Amino acid sequence: MNIIILGPQGCGKGTQARLLAEKLGLYYHEMGAFLRDLAKKNKIVADYINNGILVPDDIFFQAMKEILQEKTSSGQGMILDGFPRTVRQYEMLQNLFDEIGNKINKVILLNISDKEVVRRLSARRTCVSCGAVYNLATSPKPVTAEKCDKCGGKLIQRDDDYPETIAKRLSEYKENTLPVIDLARKQGILLEIDGEKSIEDIQTELLSWIN
Ligand code: AMP
Repeated sequence: MNIIILGPQGCGKGTQARLLAEKLGLYYHEMGAFLRDLAKKNKIVADYINNGILVPDDIFFQAMKEILQEKTSSGQGMILDGFPRTVRQYEMLQNLFDEIGNKINKVILLNISDKEVVRRLSARRTCVSCGAVYNLATSPKPVTAEKCDKCGGKLIQRDDDYPETIAKRLSEYKENTLPVIDLARKQGILLEIDGEKSIEDIQTELLSWIN
């Protein structure tokens, strides 16, 4: 089973994807984290991310391809979060899967309003030491806004979680990802869910649809 999870930034797709991966034994690929990791060694990638601009496909697709090939040959299903994000990436993924005898089974869309995107992202904090992610507006909330509950590390706001960059990322999402959603809808593999419901309700809805 291969699932793509889409939605505007802050819609909770990471939380839902992790829960699904755990329950269904899927490999979880978080594109943003994968690229932020790459950015540590590659300043060009870091500049794209910090400005809320999509990293060009040719910079990362080969590395991504190797992961997808390896998972396919091991027979493990996957849940892809943050990739594909453009029609071109969706087609690249479909072509690769065609080549290696795999396919996209389902596409999940978690919808939240623009206002909720801004509220959630402005309240997001990340631990500099262990990478744990918290949200001061929703759960999981840290005990204090300064320190990580897991390791005591300092909590910071990501460079791309400030209002101007949030607005840029939101319009990037509308321009590039909404057409991917239309495509999946036409293919009859799209499930749309209200991302403003509770984490538990969304997870129950997702599991019953998948099963
Ligand atoms: P995210 O954590 O999903 O909000 O992603 C953070 C940043 O990583 C984005 O603003 C882009 O710069 C980059 N990024 C994430 N996913 C992709 C993708 N599929 N293609 C290109 N760039 C991406």
